[in-house]
Amino acid sequence: MESVITVAAPDTERYSRQVLFAPIGEAGQQRLAASTIAIVGCGATGAASAALLARAGVGTLILIDRDFVEESNLQRQVLFDEADADAATPKAEAARRQIARFNSDTKVRAHVADLVPGNIHTLLAGAQLILDATDNFETRYLINDYAVEQSRPGQGEHLVAWIYAAAVGAYAATMNILPGETACLACLFPKPPTGPVETCDTAGILNTAVNLAASIQVTEALKYLTGAREAMRRSLLAWDLWQNDRSEISAAQPRQDCEVCGQRDFAHLRGEGRPHITLCGRNSVQIHEHDRPVDLGAAAERLRPHGDVRQNGLLLQFRRGPHTLTLFADGRALIQGTTDIALARTLYARFVGS
Ligand SMILES: [Zn+2]
Repeated sequence: MESVITVAAPDTERYSRQVLFAPIGEAGQQRLAASTIAIVGCGATGAASAALLARAGVGTLILIDRDFVEESNLQRQVLFDEADADAATPKAEAARRQIARFNSDTKVRAHVADLVPGNIHTLLAGAQLILDATDNFETRYLINDYAVEQSRPGQGEHLVAWIYAAAVGAYAATMNILPGETACLACLFPKPPTGPVETCDTAGILNTAVNLAASIQVTEALKYLTGAREAMRRSLLAWDLWQNDRSEISAAQPRQDCEVCGQRDFAHLRGEGRPHITLCGRNSVQIHEHDRPVDLGAAAERLRPHGDVRQNGLLLQFRRGPHTLTLFADGRALIQGTTDIALARTLYARFVGS
């Protein structure tokens, strides 16, 4: 008896213009429909990349973001609207809802969480490609460790690739990391940068720089997912859109003595030297040392006599004087109105618990 393997045919009309593009074709479109991609960070770059990938017809998107939508995001974060900002909807959940409106075939797993060593293996499980859309190097080095750890080049060729992307001001940068083939992040930069790094909270950001970073990142992702690995760029590419500058640094070869991809030593996955409290821009502090679930309803009742409380089922916001404490169901909190870590810790201990 003849056995027939049927693959669910992608919607032919919907993807017809992409299928006409010869390097993708029918076969490439089917590979996209069968693929699982994680996007870490769902702010400007993450929302743009998620929108492009969902419209291109990828099968499953894993979206991870620790933050909620605010009015100042709407200038560049294409999946969110004024209602999301009014309701302070967590970005991962707002993105999931918006994607469902334009491509209900793409499965979206939304995680309102900070990606950390303790949850990275669970949250990224099954992803063949990880897109970096974070705003910090701590998380990028963690993703780099994970992708190299999971990849077994030469042993069945199992590969978990990731694509770095960053945008600030009029500047956009991106790099493909194919463990075992190209340089990894630590090959080029053994240690994360120290000292102040410009962010969109200090240097501002053009939405065009964001969309450029996302466009290049997603194009490289489409090459990877459709099996056109040889067409992928092997360099760190940077643009300054305002100055009309473009620069490229080769990343074609791994560095032999690289601690991560050479010696397979994963300090960031072990969580070494990782702070439990971090400054996260826009005059705010994140506390994530208490990895325990919080009953948001009970917390709202307890806090109501002490200040302004509102809750949307996924998070709780408590305003008191100049400070706003946003509490997530996993016990994590963002405290806005201060960059004083000791004060943030005190407010957390007083109103959430120590
Ligand atoms: Zn390396």
